[in-house]
Amino acid sequence: MKDIRALPDDDVIPVEQVDALIVGGGPAGLSAAATLKRAGVAKVVLVERQNETGGIPRHCGHSPFGMREFHRVLSGKRYAARLATEAISAGADIRLMHSVVGISEGPQALVATPEGLRRFEARKILIATGVRETTRAGRLASGSRPVGIFNTGALQDLVHLRGLRPFRRPVIIGTELVSMSAILTCLSAGARPAAIVEGGKRPVVRAPFNWLPALLQIPRHYEADILEILGRSAVEAIVLKNRRTGVITRIACDGVLFTGGFTPEASLARLSGVTIDGGSAGPEIDSFGRTSMAGVYAAGNVLRGVETAGRCWAEGRSVARVMADDWRNATISAKVAVETGGGVKLVVPQSVSIAPSPAFEYLQVRLDSWINGELVIEQGGYVIWKRRLSSGPERRILVPLKELEINDTGAPLRVTANKL
Ligand SMILES: Cc1cc2nc3c(=O)[nH]c(=O)nc-3n(C[C@H](O)[C@H](O)[C@H](O)COP(=O)(O)OP(=O)(O)OC[C@H]3O[C@@H](n4cnc5c(N)ncnc54)[C@H](O)[C@@H]3O)c2cc1C
Repeated sequence: MKDIRALPDDDVIPVEQVDALIVGGGPAGLSAAATLKRAGVAKVVLVERQNETGGIPRHCGHSPFGMREFHRVLSGKRYAARLATEAISAGADIRLMHSVVGISEGPQALVATPEGLRRFEARKILIATGVRETTRAGRLASGSRPVGIFNTGALQDLVHLRGLRPFRRPVIIGTELVSMSAILTCLSAGARPAAIVEGGKRPVVRAPFNWLPALLQIPRHYEADILEILGRSAVEAIVLKNRRTGVITRIACDGVLFTGGFTPEASLARLSGVTIDGGSAGPEIDSFGRTSMAGVYAAGNVLRGVETAGRCWAEGRSVARVMADDWRNATISAKVAVETGGGVKLVVPQSVSIAPSPAFEYLQVRLDSWINGELVIEQGGYVIWKRRLSSGPERRILVPLKELEINDTGAPLRVTANKL
């Protein structure tokens, strides 16, 4: 019997030649598509696996989006629609319900389309596949499996795209910026959070968590582990244990929202053989946005979890400019590797050029724990940059590349966060 999972022979898959193929129609992919077209690139195709472009913002009913791009505050939905309009009016060809299943040398991409498989032979490919939040399973939260347990993205989809109200008294797990979106989405759906729970000693982002929950009279539980989620068909309660005191608390609720804990949506890149960085869990790139596979670039949240839409949009635009420049044979100078030392979780990009970088003007650094001390960059045993710092995990730290006096010995840069 014929194995239906087997791929058809190469010669029966239709092939399409394009100049640039963009994978993912979120802010990074849409801004890259518009930029490439405006730079005069002839055939720019953007493929998106959903039936609509816009990425995450398309199901964010709340603001603020668009300040950097359009100098006004827009809701996520309006922002997503505006980005799509810009890309289409610039002349980009957008294909919906197209899911890229593999990228290989060439570069080329195998794409599952509503009409079947199609192979795209491209001069350049941009991976802009975004991030995903860690689910309950990923957080190993035990207990029963009632309905009413979501991530923020799924909740926003239910509330803003389907008009549903899945609960009235949920418990929110996490205090990242996206947890603020979770609170706003709950309020807009007529739900009032029963509590906010954080494993750390303090909120991951200072504002608004230092004032908003208090204003809304939402109890906060820090240093709390989830012991169990209770409920038969629907969620009835969550049980917490304080790490320091051992005190056990039961909170009655009808839903649990797991927020944040972002990881890059990098399985396409990984399975395609693109080198993945151990710290960021996204594709390793240089300061031009180039991955380890010739002709394949990456931008946006796939590089690290998680940045604002405006920053991802700007990254898509900058990397697209480099892609367009490459056609004009711009010379690309030597690369210096960037390594993470103690206290540092990730650095993006993972290698930099000695000449000014056209795509990434900053090293983006994230810490792996709270540090009150200094951030130090060394090359060949010499300190080439340092700055005082008081910061924690998931907070954005930017080091301007133009402030680094990088030498061309080939020695890597080492970024370390030291407690003082
Ligand atoms: C709940 C929530 C609320 C947020 N609120 C704000 C806010 O208020 N303001 C703000 O500035 N930022 C906010 N953000 C962050 C912002 O949404 C992201 O930074 C931004 O969407 C990242 O853009 P991106 O293009 O990198 O990725 P995404 O927006 O994630 O887009 C990636 C796209 O790639 C597609 N894709 C993935 N794999 C494939 C494949 N194999 N083939 C084809 N297509 C594929 C996906 O379907 C998706 O459409 C929020 C994020 C979340 C999760």
